[in-house]
Amino acid sequence: MPRTRTPLVPGWFTTEGEEFRLLGTRCRVCGSVFFPREDSFCRSPDCASTELDEAPLSRRGRVWSYTDGRYRPPAPYVSDPDAEWQPYTLIAVELAAERMVVLGQGAPGVTLADLAVGMEVEAVPGVLSEDAEHIWTTWNWRPVTSGSEERS
Ligand SMILES: [Zn+2]
Repeated sequence: MPRTRTPLVPGWFTTEGEEFRLLGTRCRVCGSVFFPREDSFCRSPDCASTELDEAPLSRRGRVWSYTDGRYRPPAPYVSDPDAEWQPYTLIAVELAAERMVVLGQGAPGVTLADLAVGMEVEAVPGVLSEDAEHIWTTWNWRPVTSGSEERS
């Protein structure tokens, strides 16, 4: 039976249109941008707005910090103790236009040696985990290779 590609959290990113984008929300009154998306009220302390619109975030940002997970985290982290632990990189990316930092895993194959603070990275589709019925999708950060065209 074919498995369904299912976003781990619905509404946090889109693959519609031509490119993958993270989805936040923007306050109609003060313009603050929120990710994870805030749909009920503006979290700015100086703003009482309850009107927020979905807003695609910048596709590219710069590495603000990064680390890697070489060991299986303890409970309540969910993972199969019988499966071999796959190290991964965790990257905090600063989005200049939104003035925020968004955490995400590095794309498969991205190691600490590939990363540097200030390096340009872009959001790409990723897979968090798989089970019998689903492929749980998420976003990954991937270094922008030199020579790739600038589209934003
Ligand atoms: Zn606001």
